[in-house]
Amino acid sequence: MNTREVLFDRVALIGAGLIGSSLARVIRREHLANHIVAHSRRPETRTRLQELGIADTVARDVETAVNGADLIVISVPVGASGDIAEKIGPHLKDGAIVTDTGSVKKSVIRAMSPYLPDTAHFVPGHPIAGTENSGPDAGFASLFEGRWCVLTPSAETDQKAVGKVIQLWEAAGSKVDQMSAEHHDMVLAITSHIPHLIAFNIVGTVADLEDDTKMEAVKYAASGFRDFTRIAASDPEMWRDVFMENREAVLEMLGRFSEDLSGLQRAIRRGDAHGLETKFKRTRGLRRDVIDAEQA
Ligand code: NAP
Repeated sequence: MNTREVLFDRVALIGAGLIGSSLARVIRREHLANHIVAHSRRPETRTRLQELGIADTVARDVETAVNGADLIVISVPVGASGDIAEKIGPHLKDGAIVTDTGSVKKSVIRAMSPYLPDTAHFVPGHPIAGTENSGPDAGFASLFEGRWCVLTPSAETDQKAVGKVIQLWEAAGSKVDQMSAEHHDMVLAITSHIPHLIAFNIVGTVADLEDDTKMEAVKYAASGFRDFTRIAASDPEMWRDVFMENREAVLEMLGRFSEDLSGLQRAIRRGDAHGLETKFKRTRGLRRDVIDAEQA
């Protein structure tokens, strides 16, 4: 029997793809809300949500979806967050908590804040969990287990509201950290955004090869290329928005990455075997740290 406390009377999930639908499944499983409303933009996604039965109500309009909701979770590509905030702002009930799951925080806060009334509490968030799949069928309740969720509320944010969002993510099995939006964007640029960019680039390079070589790359993909193809299959719209919205931090980290790549290029050209080995020993050590941190 589930003895967990019901955290919210009514939760509205705006965007119910991989992340939103996974959260819906968690809220259902843990009985964290009395009523779950899900909204998605396209009719075919709404039909699928109805078929899956992971929400009590599927709302066509975003404004109707948030009516009377105590918690609103926005899980759409980050570039669309401002429009959503503009639409829902006037319909939020007093004391409503608004959170999001966007992979970039500074631009989302900048885009959403002007439209949210003072009577609502905004607790921006980012679950560091995901897969390369999208849509409500891709979601699953254990997605967030053992993963970090980063919250970036301002110093003025109501602590009770922050506490409720922490309880939500902890119920999903996540560990929760808080930091500034700026710091989040810098950390995620190097740990997530640039690795994705590298995957998009290397797979793009192969896609542009002449047909014979390309077929060989597909045939022998298991030699290392395979993992890049998985990452490079991630949602194009989501990732377009991430790079558009986290431009500064990505360019800063990309500068460092390019310098290091040039260093490796030089070592190979000069036949600097020792330099290469030293570098690879350090990277192997970092892999061990990731395993020890249970993030492997
Ligand atoms: P997803 O599976 O593609 O789902 C996106 C949802 O947003 C769908 O409900 C979609 O509606 C809706 N949507 C798409 N474009 C929209 C627009 N322009 N206006 C309004 N709604 C729109 O994406 P996701 O992976 O759940 O990502 C959602 C958010 O979580 C993003 O901000 C992403 O940065 C963040 N995030 C993703 C991951 C990951 O690994 N995927 C991890 C952590 C955080 P329709 O289907 O009806 O079009």
